[in-house]
Amino acid sequence: MLDKLVIGDLKPYARASPESSSSSSSSLSCKASSAADNTNTNNYSYCLGWRLAVEVANTVRPWRTVPIEFFPDIETYMTGGQYYKDLELIVDQILSYVNDIVLHYDGMDAWVLDVDDTCISNIRYYKGRRYGCDPFDSTTFKAWILKGECPAIPAVLGLFNNLLARGLKVFLLTGRDQETLGKATTDNLHNQGFIGYERLTLRSSAYKGQSAVRYKSEIRKQIEEEGYRMWGNVGDQWSDLQGERLGKRTFKLPNPMYFIS
Ligand SMILES: [Mg+2]
Repeated sequence: MLDKLVIGDLKPYARASPESSSSSSSSLSCKASSAADNTNTNNYSYCLGWRLAVEVANTVRPWRTVPIEFFPDIETYMTGGQYYKDLELIVDQILSYVNDIVLHYDGMDAWVLDVDDTCISNIRYYKGRRYGCDPFDSTTFKAWILKGECPAIPAVLGLFNNLLARGLKVFLLTGRDQETLGKATTDNLHNQGFIGYERLTLRSSAYKGQSAVRYKSEIRKQIEEEGYRMWGNVGDQWSDLQGERLGKRTFKLPNPMYFIS
């Protein structure tokens, strides 16, 4: 089972009111069209502000669903190309950092990657959930995971292979349940090209009920106590990048579809 999604309450913003226009029919049509344009612009601007608040500042938390007013803009963001451009920009920044660090090449240089919507994508599933506008449903999501058909996120697969080529040991860390989703997750990662990582850690029974922050902090602590130097840590959730033993640098990937605490 994935980490529990936290229930929040987002207040939808007020739409502009085209009905406030009045005049002759042609003028009314023109003004109504203009008002509709303004509404669309307001929607886009407000959605962009919301995404910045979610992704950059983490000020909208906890939240349960994407406000339904944002559905068209979130859909466009996730499927129209910008999401992948944002991923590429962040991965470029990560690679720039990786190229500048001085590794020890003693087998103890390490890196941590989250799995869901970091290595492999759940966008196909979330298309059916209106990209997060519908509440999280653990039953259908588990069924999706068991298919083992999450595609690789290309930019992160490239990062993964670059890290391996540099001699880093890559640790994959996920909140997926070890007992029920372990095989599907391993198979999915392998069939998408994530081969050669040092270790995949899924949530075992010992960590059930813990927050993602606490669970992932504990696993990172164990990695460091084995003697590894954790040069970087990448995830799509703030809870991947909060807590203890975070690594020397953390990198947040975009994901406006859901929030895990
Ligand atoms: Mg994730």
